[in-house]
Amino acid sequence: MRVFKFGGASVKDADGIKNVYDVLQKVGHEDVLVVISAMGKTTNAFEVVIKNYFDKSAELQASIQEVRKYHNQILMDLFDDENHAVFAAVTKIFTDLESFLKNNKSPNYNFVYDQVVSLGEVISTCIVSHYFNHVGLKNQWLDVRELIKTDNTYRDAVVDWEATQKNISKNVKKKTLNITQGFLGSDDNNFTTTLGREGSDYTAAIFAYCLNAESVTIWKDVPGVLNADPRYFENAILLNQISYREAIELAFYGATVIHPKTLQPLQKKEIPLFVKSFVNPLLPGTRVSKGADLEPQTSCFIVKKNQLLISLSSLDFSFIMEENISEIFMLLHKFKIKVTLIQNTAISFSVCVDDKFGNFAELKSVLSKKFHVTYNDNVSLYTIRHFTEKSGDAVAKNKVVLVRQVSRETLQIVTKEA
Ligand code: ADP
Ligand code: ASP
Ligand code: MG
Repeated sequence: MRVFKFGGASVKDADGIKNVYDVLQKVGHEDVLVVISAMGKTTNAFEVVIKNYFDKSAELQASIQEVRKYHNQILMDLFDDENHAVFAAVTKIFTDLESFLKNNKSPNYNFVYDQVVSLGEVISTCIVSHYFNHVGLKNQWLDVRELIKTDNTYRDAVVDWEATQKNISKNVKKKTLNITQGFLGSDDNNFTTTLGREGSDYTAAIFAYCLNAESVTIWKDVPGVLNADPRYFENAILLNQISYREAIELAFYGATVIHPKTLQPLQKKEIPLFVKSFVNPLLPGTRVSKGADLEPQTSCFIVKKNQLLISLSSLDFSFIMEENISEIFMLLHKFKIKVTLIQNTAISFSVCVDDKFGNFAELKSVLSKKFHVTYNDNVSLYTIRHFTEKSGDAVAKNKVVLVRQVSRETLQIVTKEA
């Protein structure tokens, strides 16, 4: 079986969905499981809905209607007959959302977040599955929440592999086209959970692992993994082949083309990952597989924007040693703040972090009891794998460099725009 993943960009409008159909015609769809994300920027739009809900904003209804209108337009573009069952199916999802918000008593933001944003994937797969059936491409729609079981860490759930393996083995049909949602799972009480933003690539890897798939292909709006994000760097070039190790490093430091959690399950079973263009599906793209000899022959540039550089120093000139450092890390873990770079001296300790969940203010007040805390917000972390002096200088040009760190393969600089 092959596992495919189509992200938000590939299904952002009716033409996108028709293109997914064309891709499947070209590359085959028998014995395939397709994982699909929410359409376009739907997850962001649902985030606004949740914020409005908790803020008791007058904009709540308008924000729901915006998501609804967007999907309605896609439905109208795909189906001529407004009596087609898909219209009622999508309407029901929105009616259920309204009644969930009306009846919900939970003050837990993360819980509510998952129950609401998850609908993006539910709607997208509902539309795509109906459309494919409509144009004669028979498929089986699967509710991923009945397959991928997780703990109840809402917004960042941890997969229960044993239960998931059992469910997937039992319910995914071979020799057919299966369609399911990326990004979602469910906890022991069957409440919806999500696997972290951009987590649909990871969903594809979970299925591939449990199905012993022959390969995973994630279909993107770029020709494959490039040596840099073309949005921020000119003349990016395609990497034809890279190792799991290289891919995991690139993804971890912020090459958003692959979600970092995707690689580990695939690597364990040596399932190759292809990153290909949904515009030119027959081009080879990038192959990620085993092999130490697959190091890129060129520098790779990664930028993570909107990072925080936190510097701690002791209040009494005492050393910052193992004991303090482990305490600092425990706190970072507790507040779900991800560390992307570490630097220390005798009495100071700096970390560059990604505060995805907006917990820094709370962390800061705890740390301030023991340390002198300073920070720079909105900094960029540039990582250059296989750097050269020239490539390092090019990145630092016209920027204020706050930290520079070099290891054998990797140069990292934290900058503020000059
Ligand atoms: P999806 O539609 O699956 O969510 P994403 O938008 O998350 O796709 O990922 C594709 C985007 O990743 C590209 O449009 C590109 O801007 C960005 N990107 C970042 N780093 C790289 C890289 N090294 N190679 C290719 N694309 C990259
Ligand atoms: N829809 C989710 C998000 O935007 C998951 C994904 O697209 O991978 O984060
Ligand atoms: Mg994405």
